[in-house]
Amino acid sequence: MLLEVPVTNPLLFRRRGRLAWYNDYMTKCCGICGVTKPVSDFHSRPGASDGLRNQCKRCRATQRHESYLTNRTQALVSAQSWSRANPEKRKASHRKYYEANKAAINAAAKIWAKNNPEKYKLGIANWRKRNRCRVNISLERYRDKKYQNVTTLTYSDWLQILDYFNGRCAYCLGRFSVLELEHLIPVSKGGGTTIENIVPACRSCNARKHNRPIWSLLAA
Ligand SMILES: [Zn+2]
Ligand SMILES: [Zn+2]
Repeated sequence: MLLEVPVTNPLLFRRRGRLAWYNDYMTKCCGICGVTKPVSDFHSRPGASDGLRNQCKRCRATQRHESYLTNRTQALVSAQSWSRANPEKRKASHRKYYEANKAAINAAAKIWAKNNPEKYKLGIANWRKRNRCRVNISLERYRDKKYQNVTTLTYSDWLQILDYFNGRCAYCLGRFSVLELEHLIPVSKGGGTTIENIVPACRSCNARKHNRPIWSLLAA
């Protein structure tokens, strides 16, 4: 049974040793939802005249969650606009965070990959598509190791070479979406993957040249 009596400070009840009775039978009307509830449904507030908050626990939780959501959205929006304005700083801070938490991030990524094999495979395939030049270089490195050739070409070297040839095939001068790394001196004849020995070539020119040195193609 709930009593409709005005709430007084619980400290008075504690003094008289009747706190349990106070919690069970005293009520208060919530200032937000307007429902009369037992005082145990209100958080305490030392400064208040009755020692309780004006809103019930449930209303208080809702209020706090809403303010969290608005603040969170605002924080996200401002963070987004900052990283758009400072792409270099964002990159640097991401790298710094990654370096500091490498082990944990890699472990979490491994677990994610294990739990989402399909998404993981798709992600790898998409990365390969976007970074075809990088993939090519790593394939060449692998081949060079086999023949014990020199590999010094970096991704930025490759971009420099592409720029030098205006993004065209070095042989037919055509424009292609995919240009392969072409060794002037073939890998099988000791040609390394270096900035001096690499030119961009389209697939058909690369296939036509195959293992012959460059002069044989020009004579043909
Ligand atoms: Zn309420
Ligand atoms: Zn070509």
